[in-house]
Amino acid sequence: MNEQQLIAFFEDIHRHPELALQETRTSGKVREALAATGVEFLPCSLPTGSIAVIRGAKPGRTIGLRADMDALPITEESGLPYASEVPGVMHACGHDFHTSAVLGAALLLAERRNELAGTVKIVFQPGEETSEGGHIMAREPALQDVEEYYACHTYPAFPAGMLGLKTGPVMAAPDAFTITIRGKGTHAGNPHFGVDSIPAAAALILSAQTLITRGKDAFEPAVLSFAHLQAGNTWNIIPEEVLLEGTLRTLDEDLRKTLRRRLGEMAEMIAKAHNCTSEIRWDIGPGPVMNDPELCRYAQSLAREMGFDVAPQANTMGGEDFSEYLRDVPGLFVRVGTGGGYTNHHPKFTVNEKALWPAARFFAELALRRAGI
Ligand SMILES: [Zn+2]
Ligand SMILES: [Zn+2]
Repeated sequence: MNEQQLIAFFEDIHRHPELALQETRTSGKVREALAATGVEFLPCSLPTGSIAVIRGAKPGRTIGLRADMDALPITEESGLPYASEVPGVMHACGHDFHTSAVLGAALLLAERRNELAGTVKIVFQPGEETSEGGHIMAREPALQDVEEYYACHTYPAFPAGMLGLKTGPVMAAPDAFTITIRGKGTHAGNPHFGVDSIPAAAALILSAQTLITRGKDAFEPAVLSFAHLQAGNTWNIIPEEVLLEGTLRTLDEDLRKTLRRRLGEMAEMIAKAHNCTSEIRWDIGPGPVMNDPELCRYAQSLAREMGFDVAPQANTMGGEDFSEYLRDVPGLFVRVGTGGGYTNHHPKFTVNEKALWPAARFFAELALRRAGI
């Protein structure tokens, strides 16, 4: 496969985006492209996931390359000639780029099998946007011998030809919470006949920010956002309960646990102060993505050798389930400059296709060299 063919592959899957855990066509196209090279596939329990393996001519280490494949429920407004043909679904996070770049790397590695000492396992993961795929794929028996993992992500803040490489935490642990505050419904003209849960919810929303501003070291990042509130349905009835949904984002496991506990305590105490009760339910997300310092230094020097501009990417409190692969294995999450002018998840998000082939070459070279170390 050459650059033009890889771009054509990318445009084809961009036209046909598929939501989390529905990536049937995409994974079929990936398998089709790899089938001609004689690459072997290993068992994978997710029906839309694939694990390909390239075994080198000589023994060596086992390296994992991971790409995610799912799109988002967004109506595309990019105006691209190869825009989504699926109404309401769009590759607005660039996972089509990741799939194509890692497929390109796999094809390049298959051609250079004679040079390869060791094994490269290539993971095409479904369901990243919903955090449903990573924790299952990372535990696949076929991947338990992987010694290092690499993944890429599109990065509109950098132009094509630039890579974002930085050690330490690069993505946050995204936990979701649902708090229910219960009072007693009544006529809005006679609040004393009931127990109003709305002031309790309002007090909680304001007080909870002190967990971030007063309750932790200012140099330790954390975000707490209430994103969805629901109470009542008209102006003259005090509702029985208020539902509050939101997210806690942290980079440190201890702080993550502390803030989870503190938000629960605060909800309980504030509800009690207002004669209400509260209940909190956590949907624990993947952990923070931590870039290994040694792998990062290695990749930085390789990137420069291959002609990329290299800079540290900005910190983000977004989440990524690539961290599921890094529980016991070192890894590196590489931001690939893709320009385009719009952020990930925007309906006008685009990538510069010129970034694709160099990214494929970089990941092939990185896997080849790391396997032989
Ligand atoms: Zn995304
Ligand atoms: Zn993404």
